[in-house]
Amino acid sequence: MSVSFSSFDLSADQRTTLDTADEYARNELYPLAPRMDAEEWWPAEAFAKLGAAGYLGITVPEEYGGVGTDLFTSGLVLQALSRWNHAMGLAWVAHENLCTNNLYRNANELLRRRFLPGLCSGKLVGALGLTEPGAGSDALGSMRTTARRNGDHYLLNGSKIYITNGPVADVLLVYAKTAPERGAQGISAFVVDKDFPGFRVAQKLTKMGFRGSQTAELVFEDCRVPAENLVGQENAGVAVVMSGLDLERAMIAPICLGISERALELSLDYAQSRVQFGRKIADFQMIQAKIAEIYVAVETMRTFTYRVLAAANDLEIGGGGRGRIHALTAASVMYAAETMNRVLSEAVQIHGGTGYIWESEINRLFRATKLLEIGAGTTEVRKLIISGELLGKNA
Ligand SMILES: Cc1cc2nc3c(=O)[nH]c(=O)nc-3n(C[C@H](O)[C@H](O)[C@H](O)COP(=O)(O)OP(=O)(O)OC[C@H]3O[C@@H](n4cnc5c(N)ncnc54)[C@H](O)[C@@H]3O)c2cc1C
Repeated sequence: MSVSFSSFDLSADQRTTLDTADEYARNELYPLAPRMDAEEWWPAEAFAKLGAAGYLGITVPEEYGGVGTDLFTSGLVLQALSRWNHAMGLAWVAHENLCTNNLYRNANELLRRRFLPGLCSGKLVGALGLTEPGAGSDALGSMRTTARRNGDHYLLNGSKIYITNGPVADVLLVYAKTAPERGAQGISAFVVDKDFPGFRVAQKLTKMGFRGSQTAELVFEDCRVPAENLVGQENAGVAVVMSGLDLERAMIAPICLGISERALELSLDYAQSRVQFGRKIADFQMIQAKIAEIYVAVETMRTFTYRVLAAANDLEIGGGGRGRIHALTAASVMYAAETMNRVLSEAVQIHGGTGYIWESEINRLFRATKLLEIGAGTTEVRKLIISGELLGKNA
């Protein structure tokens, strides 16, 4: 049996989007994946090509250079990209969702017109900087980066860590405290251009998985950011963060789904070609059981991922960060990330020694485990969000 990637609940247009993006990713991005993994190589021209093919600015209206569709469509594209090159999928979601979509939803007209066309064409690469060396799960409370108004500029001081696209980004959405004494209510969001004086990439970080996706520590030393680059109101950054994180969580589950779908396909191929004891290993019931379990995991992941993407699709600007959608998006990524780990563990087992060899595709997928239990709020934080909503403790 060959695995169909189709899903019964997609409309004809949605299925076409998924299939077309799948074909694009297989032809254009899959061939880049081995070198990205081996060398942590960044294919600098890939984003311009993604833009030209209509895979950037999906949620941004056409008047700003975007495609003008929606979050669900964006999730389908990410699912397809992640089947064939999940490192590019991660770079894409940081650019497309964390930076571009957040800017579109929260920036004023001036900033939208200045930055969105370049982000939508792929001429500019975007990133988002929230996490700091001392502020991970407690990103808001422990944030030390400050922004002090100085005439028509703000001066940013501090550092950000584990920032996806950090080493290659042209435009960064950065959070800093404009009123540290007000805690989380004293945070503001800024658009930082990589050429602003006082900004630098302190170091590129080497990862165990998603290796072609570039990750960095960033430093701000009296970094001069024009006051007009403030996103939203001063000290109102917490709403931008919380709303953005809900959408980010809904959007990360498709990465887990795409990787898991590919793991199932590779496992089926391997089980039907590898011969031991004079028989294909697919003839052994214990291998059949693993395949059945992976299949059930992928199907349930797909159903839940789509359901939550659909629920998040029409989230109003400024919405989220609380209530049903806050719990649902946390649940979606929590389930998808944990299920993906199980899928890949069994998929590597089916591959035997081949699965343990670094260069094999299934090993590349296996090394993608864990990150999606950590980024965008850890599994533990997701559990706090879900139980907090159910028990009324998040207010
Ligand atoms: C490859 C990669 C890419 C990333 N990309 C970005 C990016 O683009 N932009 C960005 O801003 N950030 C990014 N991050 C950061 C990511 O969001 C953080 O790593 C994550 O939020 C966890 O923070 P931490 O690593 O400091 O862990 P910590 O917060 O130090 O957590 C350590 C452990 O303690 C647990 N813990 C913490 N608090 C509690 C609690 N209250 N109850 C129970 N357990 C708790 C955690 O769950 C975890 O198990 C990225 C991270 C990685 C690894």
